[in-house]
Amino acid sequence: MAIERIVIVGGGTAGWMAAAALSRIKAGRPLEIVLIESEAIGTVGVGEATIPPFVGFNELLGINEADMLSAVGGTFKLGIQFENWGRIGDSYIHPFGAYGYSMGGISFHHVWHRMAKAGDPRPIQVFNLETMAACFGKFARTQDYRRDDLPPVNYAYHLDAGRYAAYLRRVAEARGVVREEGKVVDVALDGQSGFVTSVRLEDGRSFAGDLFIDCSGFRGLLIEQALKTGYEDWSHWLPCNRAVALPCLREDGSPPPPFTRATAHRAGWQWQVPLQHRNGNGHVYCSAFMEDDEALDILVGNIAGKPQAEPNWLRFVTGRRKKFWNKNVVALGLAAGFMEPLESTSIHLINTGIDKLISLLSLEGITKVQEDTFNRLTGREYARIRDFLILHYNATSRDDSDFWNHVRTMEVPETLTEKVELFKANGQIFREEDELFTETSWAAVMMGQGIEMGSHNAMADALDPATTAHEVNEMERSIRYLVGAMPGHGEYLARYCPAALAA
Ligand code: FAD
Repeated sequence: MAIERIVIVGGGTAGWMAAAALSRIKAGRPLEIVLIESEAIGTVGVGEATIPPFVGFNELLGINEADMLSAVGGTFKLGIQFENWGRIGDSYIHPFGAYGYSMGGISFHHVWHRMAKAGDPRPIQVFNLETMAACFGKFARTQDYRRDDLPPVNYAYHLDAGRYAAYLRRVAEARGVVREEGKVVDVALDGQSGFVTSVRLEDGRSFAGDLFIDCSGFRGLLIEQALKTGYEDWSHWLPCNRAVALPCLREDGSPPPPFTRATAHRAGWQWQVPLQHRNGNGHVYCSAFMEDDEALDILVGNIAGKPQAEPNWLRFVTGRRKKFWNKNVVALGLAAGFMEPLESTSIHLINTGIDKLISLLSLEGITKVQEDTFNRLTGREYARIRDFLILHYNATSRDDSDFWNHVRTMEVPETLTEKVELFKANGQIFREEDELFTETSWAAVMMGQGIEMGSHNAMADALDPATTAHEVNEMERSIRYLVGAMPGHGEYLARYCPAALAA
């Protein structure tokens, strides 16, 4: 059956990202795209830190970066600072760019390890532009200096999630997406195929469709409540199941830092996402080890200014739908699954879900092979991210609470054990199945949390010491020069995209 009408249920970040992206394939064709959302239900109201591929997503939509950041009070993000993870008092940055660059065909951390063993005292962080810029509160974009002899800047955004969805709504509606307000109360299925045929709203109106995108949030209105797809529960590996969010003013007048902060606490961790006009804050915790009152007290005691709203309480079960695409329903966002926001991967998974959907979509109709491919690729993506998140909890020597004792000693997936053991042996990291996280990401978190490389790739010893030393020194020098020449992050924002926040 040809696809003539796509119905998106939900108008949170997932719904409007899908609407804006799908509107690009409409271009003159008789394809209707309808988005249904309910103001009475509202959105989850969190999700403010992103990762670099999100910059490309906005570019593809033809969005002007400065205009968008200005409208959402956005800031730039060069990585995440993790505090108290390996041990209380520890701090490290997981940066977006790479440590150095590969030499003689091998990754830089092997070369660095060889030099460190020979007595070079420089930490690996000085060979990463994003880490150094973040530490000094500096920022610039590659296009500001356009010099081939200097490394590029890899960045993402912090944004106000509600304002971003509103921004995308304007983009999508301008391209012909029709928004309908109302609460879906019934989902009709075809008796033979089991496909969703229509959704009915509380006011009695009914919307038929050929393809449905379920962006209804944790409830999974179509994918779960109607199609009973099933959920794979990962809480034995990622046991945090609650969050409380509390935005606050930044009262000390300091410029927003160009990084997200993730501070580990007794039974979970706290995020701080700096926007131009406020900080997003939240405490993610595990209810088996901490009461709600204590979680809120810890959060309130560790935020930089006066709360700007009532606490927003959230409950979740980490894991994924057994199928992300089932019959004629594709789930995106929280309807598809949830892994906690430690590495800001949820909006990214919406982005890659949309990319895959658009690549596989044929307006001629839906086939099983499309569904199977989407599910296989998305399943792998989730599993690789899951392993990376588990690493943060498991690679610790913290023994100051029952929570840390639990996550430090729990069984982890074999795929993760293999990754850690290989790194311990000779620093080798294989990036598997197009996984999101790079060698630098894995190395940053493993080293940041106390996992040491036993040795390095034997090829590193074969590199000429004098030439290598010269190249490495140049690398450090160009990073120092560039960071020195960059403006402060606050200054950059004020010049490039000052917040223009409509009520
Ligand atoms: P929602 O925002 O819940 O939207 C659901 C939509 O469906 C709403 O419009 C609602 O009105 C509509 N709806 C529901 N039921 C009905 C109905 N019956 N009828 C009509 N409409 C209906 N992601 C990141 O990438 N970075 C982060 O830093 C980050 N932090 C997070 C922190 C926490 C604590 C949590 C829980 C999530 C975080 N996320 C983060 C994830 C991120 O918030 C979500 O991926 C993103 O907001 C997308 O949400 P959504 O659109 O799927 O769902």
